[in-house]
Amino acid sequence: MKLCRFDDNRLGVVSGDMVHDVSEVLAKLPALHYPYPLFDALIASLPDLRGEIERLAQNARPIPLASCRLISPVANPGKIVAAPVNYRKHLQEVRKDANLHHGNMINEIERAGLFLKATSSLVGPSEGVRLVHEDRRNDHEVELAVVIGRRAKHVTRETALSYVAGYCIGLDITIRGPEERSFRKSPDSYTVLGPWLVTSDELPDPSALDLSIDVGDEARQRSNTSDLILDVPALIAFASSFYTLNPGDVLLTGTPEGVGPIQSGDKMTAAIERIGTMEVAVSAA
Ligand code: MN
Repeated sequence: MKLCRFDDNRLGVVSGDMVHDVSEVLAKLPALHYPYPLFDALIASLPDLRGEIERLAQNARPIPLASCRLISPVANPGKIVAAPVNYRKHLQEVRKDANLHHGNMINEIERAGLFLKATSSLVGPSEGVRLVHEDRRNDHEVELAVVIGRRAKHVTRETALSYVAGYCIGLDITIRGPEERSFRKSPDSYTVLGPWLVTSDELPDPSALDLSIDVGDEARQRSNTSDLILDVPALIAFASSFYTLNPGDVLLTGTPEGVGPIQSGDKMTAAIERIGTMEVAVSAA
């Protein structure tokens, strides 16, 4: 199932180039009381609501996808976890160009660990990226994004994929420079998630997916998740050995070679095999 969020926080099931509005199901989410939980309530309830969502989708009047304003498929992730250099060819690329990381330690991911992006940086494709500090180099990074479906703590590689709700395309927009990664990757709109969530039953194996991004008509990144240093199960096991992963937590798995600058007025087109394609406009903040 492909689940999208669109327009004014509506929930939809994507089928071909149509969206079926299933927002009615949101009334069935458990009532929440302050203090609100640090996880995404919809993602946590997906297994329980799945049947109802499918029933509603069958009866909903289809809306053309092209007329929908797509927002982030996950509304309230408790955290956005991201992998630093995690593609073999990208590791070679950054080792050759000190400007990409300004002398920051470039380590194998096993030694560097993971980092967090501010949840306030999250937008959907229709909202676009709004650049800050345009005098500095702002780069695109296309990444496979994993959405955690249930609480994961100290999980093994072997069972890791059973904790996944689904997958999206992620953009980890980055200001190059000397600051901590979490700081220069966390301005508002610097994490894009979309175009929808493909549930893991529809995409059981993320280990060999083509991924790409174009800026305008220029091809920038072309790779396959088979080039990952730590693959999806290993990343989940690694992350969950440090902190608890909760439903709705997003795991950005790292970007392949070919990162490059974006400027106000650009249009990015990102695609991942078996997920889809999304267009994201770049403007000034
Ligand atoms: Mn990245």
